Amino acid sequence: MGIDFKIMFVSSEVAPFAKTGGLADVSGSLPKHLKNLGCDVRIVLPFYRMVQDQRLQHETIIEDLDVPSKGGILKAKIKQLSLEGCVPVYFISYNDFYDRGNLYGDLNGDYPDNAERFIFFCRSILELCKQLDFQPDIIHCNEWQTGLIPAYIKTLYRKDQFFTNTKTVFTIHNIAYQGIFEKEIFEKTGLPEEVFCYTGIEYYGKVNFMKAGIAYSEIINTVSQKYSKEIQTEEYGCGLQHILKDRSDSLFSVLNGVNYHEWNPETDVFIATNYNKDNVSGKIECKKDLLRNFALPLSLTERPLLGIISRLVEQKGIDLIVETIDRLMAFNIGFVLLGLGEERYHRLFQNFARRYPERVGIRIAYDNVLAHKIEAGVDIFLMPSRYEPCGLNQIYSLRYGTIPIVRATGGLDDTIRDYDQENEIGNGFKFKEYKTGAFLDKTRRALNVFENEEEWRQIMRNAMAEDFSWEISARKYIELYHKATSCP
Ligand code: ADP
Repeated sequence: MGIDFKIMFVSSEVAPFAKTGGLADVSGSLPKHLKNLGCDVRIVLPFYRMVQDQRLQHETIIEDLDVPSKGGILKAKIKQLSLEGCVPVYFISYNDFYDRGNLYGDLNGDYPDNAERFIFFCRSILELCKQLDFQPDIIHCNEWQTGLIPAYIKTLYRKDQFFTNTKTVFTIHNIAYQGIFEKEIFEKTGLPEEVFCYTGIEYYGKVNFMKAGIAYSEIINTVSQKYSKEIQTEEYGCGLQHILKDRSDSLFSVLNGVNYHEWNPETDVFIATNYNKDNVSGKIECKKDLLRNFALPLSLTERPLLGIISRLVEQKGIDLIVETIDRLMAFNIGFVLLGLGEERYHRLFQNFARRYPERVGIRIAYDNVLAHKIEAGVDIFLMPSRYEPCGLNQIYSLRYGTIPIVRATGGLDDTIRDYDQENEIGNGFKFKEYKTGAFLDKTRRALNVFENEEEWRQIMRNAMAEDFSWEISARKYIELYHKATSCP
């Protein structure tokens, strides 16, 4: 089976250039692995101010790319550099849209012209392919920001010989963010009237970019198997469960891989002492280093240390933590949290730190170095999410011998196996119901096992032996590309 696909990989965030979450990690890693498998893959993202500020060694390869828009032709510049010397990265530069403080919004909420910003993005990518004479077999679209591309290919560009053999794959990383806009926006997309319908972009009288991606792409996938099933239900589908069910024959899943060059205690440059699965003695030094970092007493080294790194939003199950913190602290544990998100959570956690100054450390920030220190320094990682498309932190935790307690949802359910004491198998602790009782029971159980040093060491061994590297997942994407290209 040939795997020399030509792929345009489109994402609104790509690490290390622009990141707000896991999407960027995937977009920065997967293309390199596709390249290693023989694909000609190129990445494209907007030229945000955040990218400009990095003063990268890019070159301007197109001064004036004509991008059709409602008001006439707009002119984009195209910048290019290569990711780790192997994958070309194109940046769509258009300052009116992308030269802003953030990617999607500020303290006042989403930018009011997000629809226009990403209509322009989608349209510019199709024009860029033509200008570069890069005829992709696959345009791999990610999230709502890219959802119009499949619709354009199937309508406005259908008769364009250039795209005759181009198919689209649409990856859903989080169905809660759909890009829903007022009906007036439809006209600005330039799409033909027929697209504004129940089986197309229309959503309760509005325009839904993610729905367009789902409706018009050849293949759809999510980032874990469990999540692909969950989003076909009312509880998790966020209103799109019906169209997903209708398209279930074309809906697949590929678990995200992780970048073990970055997240590996054996080579991690940010942690106090390196260690590996054969010799975990360095972990205790990492714990002490972390406690110092949070100005917590070193006497806590003897106690179980629980940690969280997370966007502080409802999705992540933060309410469960807030509601149980006092009962958790009654277990005589230490607790550290690194996170950024909703203001109300910031205040609550800062209060906890004041109430338990000797045992709770809180950092309201985005801090990659501290994230590494927490993965290495805590004993137990908490991820009690309401829903979790894939989740990366629990997978990082495994490699660091940091045992996750998770709720059985989405990728958490697919990656974590509840510890079975009798057979000594399992890599973490998992509870089902989104209820404080279920969470506390599981935590109590984990802490009981923690007290038995030998048993805990066994779970750590099980966890550290897991392998979620990209090689396996990249091959699965190749299978999806085969499926897409064999669609009529
Ligand atoms: P999501 O994409 O829903 O936020 P994931 O678990 O898929 O969740 O990915 C989160 C990524 O962002 C991980 O790489 C994690 O380490 C990182 N991250 C989240 N919050 C912070 C933070 N406050 N500081 C540093 N890194 C963070």
